[in-house]
Amino acid sequence: MRRIVIGEAERQDAVAIDPHWFSVLDRSVPWASGLTSPERARLLKAARELLNTRHWEGCGGLTLDADMRLVIAAQACLLTLGIPGEPFPGLREILVYPAGFLARRVRDRRKWTVSSTGEQPTPELGEAWTNGVIVLGWEAAREGASDPQDGQNLVLHEFAHQFAYDHHLVPAPVSQAIVLEDVSPVVRDAEAWGRVLRESYDRLCAKGVAATVLDKYGTTDLAEFFAVATEAFFERPAELRREDGELFAQLVSLYRQDPSTRIAA
Ligand SMILES: [Zn+2]
Repeated sequence: MRRIVIGEAERQDAVAIDPHWFSVLDRSVPWASGLTSPERARLLKAARELLNTRHWEGCGGLTLDADMRLVIAAQACLLTLGIPGEPFPGLREILVYPAGFLARRVRDRRKWTVSSTGEQPTPELGEAWTNGVIVLGWEAAREGASDPQDGQNLVLHEFAHQFAYDHHLVPAPVSQAIVLEDVSPVVRDAEAWGRVLRESYDRLCAKGVAATVLDKYGTTDLAEFFAVATEAFFERPAELRREDGELFAQLVSLYRQDPSTRIAA
């Protein structure tokens, strides 16, 4: 008789999702109602993996309960819903503050320290650090989920940075190269990806304050452009497709999903 050995990952996957999780999803993450039942189950299983295998911590006096962690993890896993394998392999910790937190300024990309320039620290809503740590403000994380069509979603934004780090999607700020040498296989055509990202970024910069579905914060650099484009892709997909069809098509290919089929124009 053949013995089938089931690994921990398979065992976890076979464990049913707690029905309470579906009600948290319905109550706090409205866009999830646009997903099919198998997608919702897949999303929550990926969220469970993120909850069980990473360090989550409430900071600044915040009590980070299980439902709050789930609201964050479920939003994050929308990004990786179409991609097989472990979600966000480079991510180790998620730190959550009550509202804004004091930004730390980067002096070394591996070692983040408080600014010593004398400038007044400004409250930031969230940051994805390059060393596998994401820092969020709970208020903004909750509000971002509550309006799924305003194009503003802190969790999608910060986890998009992590996704970009994990897959080497964005060239270093100083690089003008449009071909990404070490881009991961999640990108089907690295040359086209690099070219479209750069051209779309340049177009947004040229538009200035003109009306666009992309937040002007995306003009900061290519990394911010990618994170802002991800927010628009998931929350205002039809508008992004009309405004920049090439970028939209690249994001459909990258994320292996088309949110415009879920959210009405
Ligand atoms: Zn950002």
